[in-house]
Amino acid sequence: MDIHIGDKLKMKKAHPCGAFEWEVLRVGIDFRLKCTGCGHMIMIPRKQAEKNVKQIISPDAANNAEKE
Ligand SMILES: [Zn+2]
Repeated sequence: MDIHIGDKLKMKKAHPCGAFEWEVLRVGIDFRLKCTGCGHMIMIPRKQAEKNVKQIISPDAANNAEKE
């Protein structure tokens, strides 16, 4: 799974605030994610994040497609 800083992750389950999307602040063994609804930040293991992701929304996918 190809996840980069700045991407938004659409999760299978909603955060208690009702938002489904999380912004990726840091990637590594653990991901640091910020809820786009309430701004709550969490650290979760990469495996757990990947398991819960429904869709990766890359903000610059269109612009960077040719560079990568
Ligand atoms: Zn939230």
